[in-house]
Amino acid sequence: MAGGDLGAYGRKRRFGRTPEPAPLREAPARTAAERRFVVHKHHARRLHYDLRLEFDGALASWAVPKGPSYDPAVKRLAVQTEDHPLEYASFEGRIPEGEYGGGDSLVWDRGSWSAVPPEEADRQRERGHLLVELHGEKLHGRWHLVRTGRGDGGRSWLLFKAKDEAADPAFDVVAERPESVLTGRRLTRGPERRAVLRASHPAPRRLLERVWPPMLATLVERLPGDASRWQYELKLDGFRALAGLSGGRVALWSRNGLDLAERFPGIARALEGVVVGEAVVDGEIAAIGRDGAPRFELLQRGEAPPVFFAFDLLWLDGEDLRRRPLRERRELLESLLANAPEGVRLCEIVGAPAERALEIARDEGQEGIVAKDRASPYVGTRSTAWQKRKLVRSQEAVVVGMTPSASGRAEIGALLVAVAEEGGFRYAGKVGTGFSEQERRALWEGLLPAVVDSPTARDAPRLRGARWLLPAAVCEVRFAEWTRDGRMRHPSFLGLRPDEAPEECVRERPAAGEAR
Ligand code: MN
Repeated sequence: MAGGDLGAYGRKRRFGRTPEPAPLREAPARTAAERRFVVHKHHARRLHYDLRLEFDGALASWAVPKGPSYDPAVKRLAVQTEDHPLEYASFEGRIPEGEYGGGDSLVWDRGSWSAVPPEEADRQRERGHLLVELHGEKLHGRWHLVRTGRGDGGRSWLLFKAKDEAADPAFDVVAERPESVLTGRRLTRGPERRAVLRASHPAPRRLLERVWPPMLATLVERLPGDASRWQYELKLDGFRALAGLSGGRVALWSRNGLDLAERFPGIARALEGVVVGEAVVDGEIAAIGRDGAPRFELLQRGEAPPVFFAFDLLWLDGEDLRRRPLRERRELLESLLANAPEGVRLCEIVGAPAERALEIARDEGQEGIVAKDRASPYVGTRSTAWQKRKLVRSQEAVVVGMTPSASGRAEIGALLVAVAEEGGFRYAGKVGTGFSEQERRALWEGLLPAVVDSPTARDAPRLRGARWLLPAAVCEVRFAEWTRDGRMRHPSFLGLRPDEAPEECVRERPAAGEAR
């Protein structure tokens, strides 16, 4: 068999930029009996459907603007385009702006096909009338592909359903089955329009103000188990961050409105590279250790490069997405970040039931799992539509005192911490481990100006040499368990939390699990 012509395919694309597959030099040999077909739903400047039939080791392709119809009376224009390599059959993703065919492309249907009769395929194509039998997930039965003339170089064909048992004028397959057969994704996004990119946009902080405040998860002992309703995300141990992107400028805020762009300039620069007019992305800034797990300590000490892990999209080009279900927000987020710059990644969804997801998180040394209701809107409060289960017991605590080091040097021996409660703070323990030498010195020096005469927390013990402090600094502490008198057992310092307010450091208690 002669090979299909992949010259035009290669000439139209820059494989360093588009995620589409480059053609292999040798197409794998296949038997005529199991030729494959695929239909891409391709949201380029105009949404269309690309029918691709395997011929001679390549995919002969037709762009069908309105897509196939099961009604034999409806004849759809199909414009023949360049042959695509066989590997293209499994391509799903976003072709970047400025590249040939830029926009989202889903694998809308796939399966095998044969000509009727099978040995006539080449002759039928030559003659300009193919009768094909499709065995797809959405397209079944016999279909005609008929060349309409030679005026336009013979590229115009018509695609229509043959009158057989599969024909069904009442079934609008394009409207009723919009999803990808690979991933189930439904929404697609065309290329970002130049007019939108060039238009004037508000300051990025204005976008953040419009969607403020962020949504928070409820701590639970047991995750909800219905995997058809819930998605399970890895819980990252870092700084919660919301990014406003507007006309190429970026604002990056913590939960309490602290400017994180100053602290993480590399992430702000990376976000500037996302091609969009306006967007607000919710996520977590974390640093990944060599074992692949994010560690708050690494972020705190700058020992690994920080990464922005995106998990939600609240605003896109003038549209407030918060009332849309999470499922749709996530699909648009995946499209937005499909070719994101280094330093910006999607937060991973663990494709497993709740208990298994938790095991995976434990094996990987992750902090926990957040279950999110796929149908839920984004609300600016703590909600049970997001439920977090922690594998590590950690708590944000207010620094209310310190003890000097036994070494006699100007450094701390321990931090004395408290949690917020009605009308003030309650002492919660003495944190003596987890510090580097440098942190011990820096904390002593940094906290000295806040020294006061007497304890600012209730229930504070008498401790020799203790310096009590105004409750201003917040730190994250890992510990074994709560004692009966409300102290942390074996607490260890993880880092300061400039993004947290002291009065919000309430003792985290799991909500009563739903009975199931
Ligand atoms: Mn196309």
